[in-house]
Amino acid sequence: MFDSLSNRLTKTFTGLRNRGRINPVDIEETCEEIRVALLEADVAGSVVSLLVEKVRTRSLEQISLDKKGINPGQQIISIVHEELVSILGGSARRLRYAKVAPTVIMLAGLQGSGKTTLAGKLAAYLKSEGNTPVLVACDLQRPNAVDQLQVVGNSIGVPVFAPEPGNGVGDSVKVAKAGIEFAKQKVHNFVIVDTAGRLGVDKELMEQAKNIRDAISPNEVLFVVDAMIGQDAVNTAQAFLDGVGFDGIVLTKMDGDARGGAALSIASVTGRPVMFLSTGEKSNEFEPFHPDRMANRILGMGDVATLAEQAKKALDGLDGDSAQKLEAKYIAGEKFTFDDFLEQLQAMKKMGSMSKILGMLPGAQSAAMKKQIAAIDENELTRAEAIIHSMTPTERQEPKIINGSRRARIARGSGTEVFQVNNVLDRFTAAQKAMKQMRNQPGLGGAANVPGMPPMSGMPAQKVAPPPKRSKSGNPAKRALEGG
Ligand code: GDP
Repeated sequence: MFDSLSNRLTKTFTGLRNRGRINPVDIEETCEEIRVALLEADVAGSVVSLLVEKVRTRSLEQISLDKKGINPGQQIISIVHEELVSILGGSARRLRYAKVAPTVIMLAGLQGSGKTTLAGKLAAYLKSEGNTPVLVACDLQRPNAVDQLQVVGNSIGVPVFAPEPGNGVGDSVKVAKAGIEFAKQKVHNFVIVDTAGRLGVDKELMEQAKNIRDAISPNEVLFVVDAMIGQDAVNTAQAFLDGVGFDGIVLTKMDGDARGGAALSIASVTGRPVMFLSTGEKSNEFEPFHPDRMANRILGMGDVATLAEQAKKALDGLDGDSAQKLEAKYIAGEKFTFDDFLEQLQAMKKMGSMSKILGMLPGAQSAAMKKQIAAIDENELTRAEAIIHSMTPTERQEPKIINGSRRARIARGSGTEVFQVNNVLDRFTAAQKAMKQMRNQPGLGGAANVPGMPPMSGMPAQKVAPPPKRSKSGNPAKRALEGG
């Protein structure tokens, strides 16, 4: 996400940070670099001008004050950060809940923007927060949209209200109304209404969306837009705002880098906040939008807050409170087994791809860290899981008994090669050792032993953000995230 923009800005700021003094010419140069970087990332011209002008005025003011003891480059970076947060919408806005349940969320947008996928992600997110959402299938136009929603609902365990087959059959306003009644009867506290889109903005689409909106008075109308369509995203958003009106924006396909910068201008141009991001096709590739965290990412400062939230969710999502169970186990000095290792792998997998996780760390834009990220084999977690599944319960508890012939059997059973089984056993032994060291000397080892991650020795990220001296967690998966 925003890799090239982030790269350019990081370069600009590296030079700035090291200056003892900054003069007005430096500020002009910096502003010009920021301007070009934002325009190349496809941020709307009007938004770029506004931001650069503010950065220029504030920076000139700042250097004229000539405060002693404060790094002037750092001050300018802070100004850019603040202005970036401001164009991204200021502070994060949470969903507005209805006074009397259910809270109704209507999704609108063009066909192919990722509405149906997003409906599932939003439902999964709300469910993970302890809510009881229901999905309502009002996209009766797009072929298979109703079926697709049902498949999505099934996969995340959320009911789908779909009385009409779709594919051009049925009245979407009636379905929407009946969906709300259904939610009331079955005591669902959230209703997510998926509506039809068209390939382009047209009158009929706007009319239908308006009719649904008027019939169900949603608490939130969320406009779903594909960030990869560049400036068109901003134009479409404006057309929907004028034609239907909406309360918040969801940016999808933020995993693509190409023209995502347009998305940065959307809040500023429409005056509506971006509320969620969709960053991939999987149901967990979704996050609430925080302008300050996004500004951190764009400026190469990482997004440790989101990372920590995702880690917490993934670890809490292990069956019951097994993260705590694991921790208690280590503290009590019990054996670390392959069953524990497997649970950790599954938690890591839930957080999404390794490269995305590492990409959120401060310093992720540095060349050395990028090389590490590029070397990650995303399939390795899945392979390691298959290998552990091919072990017998005794082998998982007593890995020492896994001799040559057992290794060959495990490799056959998991469709892998013996060297890959050996690799998992080595990682496991290293994790086990780290666990022992941890008990004796908190703060040592462990972080590099996660399958899928190349060894992390000499990682430059540590220069940017030194890891905490003492690791807080006995769980190596968690500890890997602490950077310790
Ligand atoms: P709808 O017509 O608006 O309901 O769009 P869909 O939900 O069917 O999505 C259209 C296509 O985009 C599908 O192939 C999705 O898998 C894909 N898609 C949706 N969201 C994302 C995302 O965040 N990233 C990527 N890479 N693909 C996505």
